[in-house]
Amino acid sequence: MTALLLSGGMDSIALLYWKRPDIALTIDYGQKCAEAEIRSSQYACEQLNIDHHILRIDGSTLGSGDMSNEKPHPLAPQTDWWPYRNQFLITIAAMKLIKDGVTKILIGSVKTDEQFKDGTKKFIQLINELISYQEGNITVESPASNMSTSELILKSQIPMSLLYCAHSCHTGNVACGRCRGCQKYLYVLDEITSSI
Ligand SMILES: [Zn+2]
Repeated sequence: MTALLLSGGMDSIALLYWKRPDIALTIDYGQKCAEAEIRSSQYACEQLNIDHHILRIDGSTLGSGDMSNEKPHPLAPQTDWWPYRNQFLITIAAMKLIKDGVTKILIGSVKTDEQFKDGTKKFIQLINELISYQEGNITVESPASNMSTSELILKSQIPMSLLYCAHSCHTGNVACGRCRGCQKYLYVLDEITSSI
């Protein structure tokens, strides 16, 4: 069985449409926009008839900046920072999914995530080795790591009506129009509509 980590943003919703996993898992780790991410994810899964699971682990005190209630940390490289976030999310996902019989976890990293260590191909390779080494029979893959978000959207052939349900805002459950997540959403919509 295959599972996809679904944040409800554009990258993971396009990947959901493209790869049609058996399970999609949305994690509420204490981020401010969790409810909106769950709503978008649930809606997309209903449309595609994919089993949607939710995992809630309160990590709210570990974040800083936009997506948390903590002030930006002095060491933070950008406006939202949860050190070791992807490592944490992939690990708690694997802890749950291995018991559900999942043997492959898909994550929605894209080429532009390469600017962060946990979005690089090296990171995916290392976490895949670690997760499969520890319990065996479970792998981590990132099918879109050579694509930009726009390339992934076009490749997936997801209809715009479904893509519009994506939630990208980092600061809350209603899009603020200003944060990095909202800016990416607007930029990508502009890029795809001008290429169609
Ligand atoms: Zn926003």
